[in-house]
Amino acid sequence: MTKEVIIIGNGIAGITLAVLLQRKGISFTLLHRKVEKPPFALGETLPPSAMPLLQQLKLLSVFEENAYRKTYGYHSMWGSSRVTDINFYHQNPFKNGLKINKHQTLETLRTEIKQHMISYSKGFEIIHEAHGNTVVLAKNDGIKMVQGKILVDATGRNRAVLQKLNIQSTIHDELVAVSCHIPKIKHPKLTHEVYVESFKEGWGIVSALNETENICTIYTHKGHEILSKLKEVSQWKTALAETTYLKDFLIETDNIKFKGGNANSSVANETAGSNWLALGDAAMSFDPLSSHGITNALFISAKAATTIEKKLLEADPDTFFEYDKTMQAIFQQYLQSKNELYRQETRWKDEVFWERFF
Ligand SMILES: Cc1cc2nc3c(=O)[nH]c(=O)nc-3n(C[C@H](O)[C@H](O)[C@H](O)COP(=O)(O)OP(=O)(O)OC[C@H]3O[C@@H](n4cnc5c(N)ncnc54)[C@H](O)[C@@H]3O)c2cc1C
Repeated sequence: MTKEVIIIGNGIAGITLAVLLQRKGISFTLLHRKVEKPPFALGETLPPSAMPLLQQLKLLSVFEENAYRKTYGYHSMWGSSRVTDINFYHQNPFKNGLKINKHQTLETLRTEIKQHMISYSKGFEIIHEAHGNTVVLAKNDGIKMVQGKILVDATGRNRAVLQKLNIQSTIHDELVAVSCHIPKIKHPKLTHEVYVESFKEGWGIVSALNETENICTIYTHKGHEILSKLKEVSQWKTALAETTYLKDFLIETDNIKFKGGNANSSVANETAGSNWLALGDAAMSFDPLSSHGITNALFISAKAATTIEKKLLEADPDTFFEYDKTMQAIFQQYLQSKNELYRQETRWKDEVFWERFF
């Protein structure tokens, strides 16, 4: 099978790129792993600033129709023990963000491109052929061979393609996240359904996932002693006893869904080469404090679609080099604002979690 583009990875970045390439009439195949674990909803929030981008990409209605709900602001306790109320009423042109249902949104978008998707269960191999083409072998019980001019890594933080190409990444911290779904309660002191609070050992966020559940995520650094207390959800209330409002959300119940993973800031040392590029979290991954991981994945996918189109039309060797330069600049800007945000919290600057930001 010969296509212009081979995309590997089935998340928001890979699917968005596929949809945009299809609209441009550029042929592609999207390779994805066959057995994916049932997704654990992270309940990602999109800020109002993401809405114009979705509108520009003609994706706003898909995201809105599949969202859990609109968000109109959030509360935070960061830098002092006062609760700040951030109200989106003053934002323009959109006065709301979205609590997205990523799984459902992706399922809807996949229906547009499913005839170009190929699954595999036993991994993939990359072979560089003569004439600048790349061949990817998708392994099931048999092998499916896909040939393309451009290879795209959209495998998120796994960076599965970059690993095979021996491209290294720079990891800037060791932030990890542990999340659980808990019964929804409405806090008597908070009006918005998103609340962020910093504390001695890290920070946490609680937000309403749907009508019956909240999601609570605690962020700290890998190896921090609080992590051993967060292994059992039943211990969370004790571990977070010194928090002001976070602890109030931790209702005990059976069968709590729980997930942990990396949430660090990292960037691929190269996000593009002569005939490949990386997208979304594979190119750069953001600290969830930024609330911009998905917005960035959408923006990069749009940038990648125009870059690929230009490369195919003009065969300009600098096109991918320019893409990489833009990606590295975005990441440096992000890193600076992220670190400034952490430095606004000075109450525990001598504590293990916080001292690294000073
Ligand atoms: C706890 C947490 C909370 C977050 N909250 C927010 C938020 O509120 N707002 C926000 O905007 N962002 C948030 N983010 C970030 C956001 O989830 C990511 O930035 C975004 O999902 C990245 O999309 P992606 O498509 O690049 O990667 P992913 O969503 O990781 O998708 C990658 C895809 O590639 C597949 N894949 C992986 N390895 C392979 C392989 N070897 N072969 C084939 N396929 C493979 C995966 O199965 C997956 O389908 C949060 C992240 C975390 C961890």
